[in-house]
Amino acid sequence: MSSFKNTYSKLPHSFYETSSPASFSKPELIIFNEDLACDLDFQEVLNIPNERLAQIFSGQEILPGSEPLALAYAGYQFGHPVAVLGDGRAHYLGEIKQHDIQLKGSGQTPFSRRGDGRSALGPVLREYLISEAMHSLGVPTTRALAAVRTGEEVVRQFGAEPGGVFTRVASSHIRVGTFQYFAFKGDIESIKTLVDYTLERHPPQIHKKLGANHYKEKSLALLKSLVEVQSQLVAHWQSIGFIHGVMNTDNFSLAGITIDYGPCAFMDEFNFHQKFSSIDHQGRYSFSNQTQIAKWNILRLADCLIPLISEGKYKEKEKGEEKERAINIVEHELMSLFPLFEAKRNERFALKLGIQNYQAEDSELITTFLTYLETEKLDFTLSFRKLPELLENSKHSFYPDTPLLKEFLEQWKKRNPNSSLMEQINPLYIPRNHLIQKAIDLSYQGDDSYFHKLHQIFKNPYQEGPYSEEFCSPPTEKERVEKTYCGT
Ligand code: AMP
Ligand code: MG
Repeated sequence: MSSFKNTYSKLPHSFYETSSPASFSKPELIIFNEDLACDLDFQEVLNIPNERLAQIFSGQEILPGSEPLALAYAGYQFGHPVAVLGDGRAHYLGEIKQHDIQLKGSGQTPFSRRGDGRSALGPVLREYLISEAMHSLGVPTTRALAAVRTGEEVVRQFGAEPGGVFTRVASSHIRVGTFQYFAFKGDIESIKTLVDYTLERHPPQIHKKLGANHYKEKSLALLKSLVEVQSQLVAHWQSIGFIHGVMNTDNFSLAGITIDYGPCAFMDEFNFHQKFSSIDHQGRYSFSNQTQIAKWNILRLADCLIPLISEGKYKEKEKGEEKERAINIVEHELMSLFPLFEAKRNERFALKLGIQNYQAEDSELITTFLTYLETEKLDFTLSFRKLPELLENSKHSFYPDTPLLKEFLEQWKKRNPNSSLMEQINPLYIPRNHLIQKAIDLSYQGDDSYFHKLHQIFKNPYQEGPYSEEFCSPPTEKERVEKTYCGT
């Protein structure tokens, strides 16, 4: 019997296009996540040879029960609406244990527009390493199931590169952009269908009591739960110095998971306004701005749901008033929930400082420490990791002795910080840009050993392992990566 379920293909046809993966003549497996396949109980891919895994995870062999689809979605990209985006280089294969299995870089679909539907190997390896590292860091994320070399070349910004196919696992691929796809068309019936589908896959507590037609309540439940999961997520990102880089609404998940590892990066030196993406000229998606953007994206979901919230028994001439009322309800709800973003971030940063019982005054303490890091251009990850040293009275060379440090220390020590808590929450090994770049450069020369080594190291980010300093150190001037690219 097939392990696949295909709940997406049971939705109306406007939700997707059927599409088959491209052919690749010599796909070669680089890595397969056997542990994840076991967790998913994905029987068909357990205990089979690598050659066949390469065929399956490049889309050459379609397993029984799988129905490849390209999912439809729209999105606001850098604040501008785009009515049709959709999977232009990805194929959803179906669900295993309530998780979407999707190939990325597997060829053109009806949504490809002018794109080739392919992916270079670099972004495949990047996504594999970073998404698995995020998982080990405890951050909600899509997972990596496999990476394959296609044996063909793709042409990108800097010339020809080897091609790759990535297999992504997600608790769903529902995005704010999926709702916008129907909202832009004025298709309210499909938005209702999507609300039900989303609540089915990501049920919030309150939903269970709602009857079939309560779309107002369902919509509000959906918005609330999105604030809940995204405020957790963004706080988590910021607490490890992660910058997503393209928080467009099409990359903003209803499941509250990190999705779409394009130009994302971990910060080395701390800077409140750090950005890496080569196309983010205004810093819209910079480190600090991520909170504001998450709220903005949630408001864009609210736009889509207004017609469902305002739908009641009213006369035609009252329609405008009813809409106005719906907007007021949503604004009121969201404005009272949005402070969760700051609360979650502060709680998390307090934990990083070894403080378990966050109090309002701690927010100043956090800002003082971060300002100190920014002023002294200190490495974000190591500055938190080495904090217990600051509690010892001996001289410490890592932290420059400045009045700001003194001010911080005075206040901080009064809060009785807990060293073992700090060690549990402040990682030592993170997927720094220059390490990932080195792995990609070597893999382009045919040597995947560095990629495999990094993958191994990032599995235990909090525990010091028998590895050289290179894996936890910031880049040298020569190694520094200033810009990241979408890789499309
Ligand atoms: P992303 O930057 O991955 O969020 O993609 C934004 C949109 O561009 C999505 O609709 C993608 O499917 C599409 N896209 C990205 N790269 C390609 C490509 N190589 N070929 C076709 N479509 C692409
Ligand atoms: Mg995307």
